[in-house]
Amino acid sequence: MTYKLLIGGKLVDGDQTMDVLNPATEEVLAKCPRASKAQLDQAVAAAKSAFPAWSKTSIDERKKVLNGIADIIEKNSDELARLLTQEQGKPLADATGEILGAAAFFRYFTSLDLPVRIIEDSDQKRVEAHRRPLGVIGAIIPWNFPIVLMAFKVPPALLAGNTIVVKPAPTTSLTTLRFGELIANALPAGVLNIITDANDLGGELTAHPDVRKISFTGSTATGSKVMAGAAALLKRITLELGGNDAGIVLDDVDPKKVAPELFEGAFENNGQVCIAMKRLYVHESIYDEICDELVKIADAAIVGDGLKQGTQLGPLQNKMQFDKVKAIIEEARKDGNIIAGGTTPEKAGYFIRPTIVRDITDGTRLVDEEQFGPVLPVIKYRDMADVIARANASPYGLGGSVWSSNPDRAYEVANQMDSGTIWVNQHGSLGPNIPFGGAKQSGLGSELGEEGLAEFTQLKVINVLK
Ligand code: NAD
Repeated sequence: MTYKLLIGGKLVDGDQTMDVLNPATEEVLAKCPRASKAQLDQAVAAAKSAFPAWSKTSIDERKKVLNGIADIIEKNSDELARLLTQEQGKPLADATGEILGAAAFFRYFTSLDLPVRIIEDSDQKRVEAHRRPLGVIGAIIPWNFPIVLMAFKVPPALLAGNTIVVKPAPTTSLTTLRFGELIANALPAGVLNIITDANDLGGELTAHPDVRKISFTGSTATGSKVMAGAAALLKRITLELGGNDAGIVLDDVDPKKVAPELFEGAFENNGQVCIAMKRLYVHESIYDEICDELVKIADAAIVGDGLKQGTQLGPLQNKMQFDKVKAIIEEARKDGNIIAGGTTPEKAGYFIRPTIVRDITDGTRLVDEEQFGPVLPVIKYRDMADVIARANASPYGLGGSVWSSNPDRAYEVANQMDSGTIWVNQHGSLGPNIPFGGAKQSGLGSELGEEGLAEFTQLKVINVLK
């Protein structure tokens, strides 16, 4: 299998190549094209020249294109999911869920419209608010959910009449490139372009004078560089960044009942989820029981190659993240007690067993930083006001959850938490119709839903004096 960039409707080789590894084996999975700066410029130029015609198509025509792309994703979901597992590491069932989820996101946006809003229509005046496309969008994607996160950005951007250049992360470019090959003829040349890099073109795309908006998902550190890079030309930006979501478990839960849900909230995709539960605060009266239940689940988890049937947790996605999480675990060994996991099997692949750390508290690296891996600190609390203050005392504010057998009680706590999304008796649920965005250093703006669509538009008011 060979992989190509998609530039101006043509599938082209990269000016260079790079290896993409399978994180379950550490073997080279494929040679991947790597675009040069000149190819980035070509992709932006193609998107720029496709913009005038695309922006003048009717919204119904654009919906037809999005539905066509969704059909293609669904038709090829088995192949795309296998490839995603091989490059990203996640179990095949999860990869299939991600691919089909992406198709559903493409379809969802076809249910939205951008009608002209009449603000005033009187004898004297007619004032209208229009939502106009911006122009060329740059979409920058991380390695944890390469396809569904692309589907947060591409459908609303295209529906609004923009054209786009997509740049996946270097370690997970293949599925995005294969997607590009499959959909190349499903839309006019240049409307959707895909380039890859070795972490060296994101800044160039951000600063490019012909790119009007950057929609970025990734770490807070890189997000801050994007903001700085976009400042000179006052570009529009949407930033979906890191998180350190707290889960707060009240004293009235049934530990056996909630433990599997807590585990899922923390360990889905091996904890490599922006909205994974990354700190778990448990009331002292049920602390030991919750810890014990979590240990049972962690010890029973099947960790292995995502292509193998029965695997629940795959490898970490890349060596850098693997080394970072191992270092965090080593520090946590001194700051608390590891009661499950903490080990890496003696075999190839970036595997770490799901790790539970108890008797640890705020002020330690594992609790204060975003670990982005399969290791969960379980922190004891006594007082409600104190635990809410601790949950909120983070520079991040992406998600969070509250767990109780009394939803009204949980709601009261949820109402006091300072994050973009708070879940009650669940953690991490998203939907294409539900706006999603971070508070504080977890982001700027929002994606999905009508709010997400509006971010790909320029508000234009026409104010007529009759
Ligand atoms: P990252 O910031 O290292 O990389 C993200 C993307 O930015 C990649 O495509 C990378 O090539 C590109 N990039 C690198 N340098 C750049 C620069 N100077 N300018 C522009 N782009 C540049 O993030 P990652 O390690 O791939 O992903 C993990 C992080 O992403 C975690 O912090 C996680 O919480 C966050 N994340 C957030 C969300 C969300 O919706 N809030 C979703 C998924 C992941």
